[in-house]
Amino acid sequence: MKHLRFISFSLAIASSIAALAATPSLKITQGKKESTSKEQHTIVGITEPGNKAFINGNEVQVYNTGSFGGTVNLNEGDNTITVTTKNSTEENSQKIKINYKKIDNTSRQPNEASQINISQISPALNIKTLPGAYLQYGNGSDRLGGSKMGYLDAEIPLKAIGQTSNLYLVQLSKNRVAYISKEYAAETLERSLTDNTGSISIANDKNCDRISVSLPTRHAYQSWTQLDPTTICVDIFGATNNSNWITQRNDLGMIEYVDWQQVDCDIFRLKIKLKEKYSWGYSIGYNGNNLVINVKHTPSLNLKDLTIGLDAGHGGKYPGAISNTGLKESEINLDIVLRIKNILEKKGAKVVLSRDSDVDITMSQRKEIFLKGNVDLMMSVHNNAGGSPLNKMGTSTYYKHISNRDLAQCVLNRMLDLGLRNFGLTGNFNFSLNAPTEYPNLLLEALFMSSLPEEELLANPDYRQQIAEQAVKGIEDYLKLVKKSQK
Ligand SMILES: [Zn+2]
Repeated sequence: MKHLRFISFSLAIASSIAALAATPSLKITQGKKESTSKEQHTIVGITEPGNKAFINGNEVQVYNTGSFGGTVNLNEGDNTITVTTKNSTEENSQKIKINYKKIDNTSRQPNEASQINISQISPALNIKTLPGAYLQYGNGSDRLGGSKMGYLDAEIPLKAIGQTSNLYLVQLSKNRVAYISKEYAAETLERSLTDNTGSISIANDKNCDRISVSLPTRHAYQSWTQLDPTTICVDIFGATNNSNWITQRNDLGMIEYVDWQQVDCDIFRLKIKLKEKYSWGYSIGYNGNNLVINVKHTPSLNLKDLTIGLDAGHGGKYPGAISNTGLKESEINLDIVLRIKNILEKKGAKVVLSRDSDVDITMSQRKEIFLKGNVDLMMSVHNNAGGSPLNKMGTSTYYKHISNRDLAQCVLNRMLDLGLRNFGLTGNFNFSLNAPTEYPNLLLEALFMSSLPEEELLANPDYRQQIAEQAVKGIEDYLKLVKKSQK
């Protein structure tokens, strides 16, 4: 509970200083620079809560955190901005000198992502996947990494035909290529070949339906879920159909039928049509050389029978975003997650946390915890940063797979009930914890650490409690939606 003390502690220090010190404090945290090319200049500062603050004589709001800020329209050339804080007896002033120079914005910057050099590997290099491997569509690398096609099992041979400093370009089939991080690949003597598919069987196995495709060697694959009707598709690269039937038993829990298509000379596609509108996830991996797809049955739709995974973003030496007065996103995230956990457990749900203290864990460790914990659904909690510190930026939810859109929408709707600005529902989000297909998942970016009005909300434990309550209502709404969709 260290994070809770941290927040109330910093507020307590700020107010005790206010009571003792005669001169109001004034710390300018943003806007102190020598020159700018923007006419509108934003100044942000900190004083004791309860003081007044002025920028060029105009009073601006001081939040309960002590944060304040405002904008000034600059004149071309040199400007002097006066920032003043006042308490009941004294005042404190600082001057900022800044030069404003208009610049011509018409020359376009080249796109960095398209500049990566790929060198050819000839003859092709035989590599195999290592645990944790995933394919990327392109070689771009923003903060979330290159756009993921999906995870792959280990020990799959691939043909590398090109490379960058940290990626291999691999030939998946005659007409398809992808990238794989060198971190997740090793050289091998095994060659990737085009193979004929063998027998395909489907059986009900307790809480999932299991499809098994026999192959002479392991092959790379890609999967996705389509809606209307809900269908899981799996492409197996370097595979040609030689399966003359699909054995389907009629006692399946989630799968209505499986169909196949040869979509290219060496791409074999399985189409798994579900009985229900909402998928509860599936896993793909090899058992020997059999590609096994486990399609989860719909669980009981009562919270008391479910296991919910909760992820508090960042932690340890990675604090995430830091607010104007120094609140750490990692601590706010964990506080909200512990509140959600509490509410869920009171309702009888089992909760699996990726972290319950201020520790640093990797994305793959987090994913591993949720897979081992057999979660039925997972929510990652973060708080955002960016945009103007003076504005309310709002709340947002994120999903990667289209099958998780309604879940993200349910949680967003409940967050909006708090009267927050809608920062949006974002799909195809390339966040690692949105990538697993094994369970429905979403990312909640509750508010913006960088926004002064939202920093004030996040610093308030009662408000964090409200955020937690709304998030749980959103999950409950999703369960109701699934129930309603069942025939
Ligand atoms: Zn974050």
